[in-house]
Amino acid sequence: MREGLLDIFHDEHRHLRPGTAPPELKIEFFAFANINNTIRMRDGKLLIRLSDLLEGAPEPVLRAIAHILLAKMYRKPIERDYTTRYRRYVSRHDITKKAHLLRQVRGRKEITTAKGRAYDLEEVFDVLNARHFHGLLARPQMTWSRNHARRLLGHYDPAHNAIVVSRVLDQPRVPRFAVEYIVFHEMLHLKHPVRLRGSRRCVHSAEFQSEEEQFPHFKQAKQFLKQL
Ligand SMILES: [Zn+2]
Repeated sequence: MREGLLDIFHDEHRHLRPGTAPPELKIEFFAFANINNTIRMRDGKLLIRLSDLLEGAPEPVLRAIAHILLAKMYRKPIERDYTTRYRRYVSRHDITKKAHLLRQVRGRKEITTAKGRAYDLEEVFDVLNARHFHGLLARPQMTWSRNHARRLLGHYDPAHNAIVVSRVLDQPRVPRFAVEYIVFHEMLHLKHPVRLRGSRRCVHSAEFQSEEEQFPHFKQAKQFLKQL
């Protein structure tokens, strides 16, 4: 583990919960398809996974992400300075990644545009990111599909780090919550990378499904999409 990282988390823990001894911490870097960071408590231990893209990040950025994750864990307010610092770093890195992605996807038929006639998928992503993910997910390439697929309304393509939404949904008669629901589902795939369980790919874990049900218009969205 990177030297000093544990100290950073201990400092931020002290700052958020003065006078409380921090629990045992396990921190690891993880190759998420995206810039993603997670924290959870298990058997009294805090398990922290940081995107390997943060491996070379300067100390103030690591301090910021430590604060954000611990504040989230203990339901304390997140200080704005930390969010700004973290996001500034991520977006800089995002830019280099995007340039690389553009080269990868150039000429690829599936990628068209995020701005549709009725909905702008980048805007939808940003709103959901702020509302449900503390703004912590880095935005992948967002695109309407070229065709009007009805069977596959959305998917996340990890090879190109792209969320593709069927153009069928880009119509004013489609309520915004239906588009949001499809994007939200794909964002959960970013948050929960596919795990192997035995030889079967566990694509929608119990944790995934319970988070999906938190979506404010979960039932209406499913209902609407069924009759589409
Ligand atoms: Zn899915």
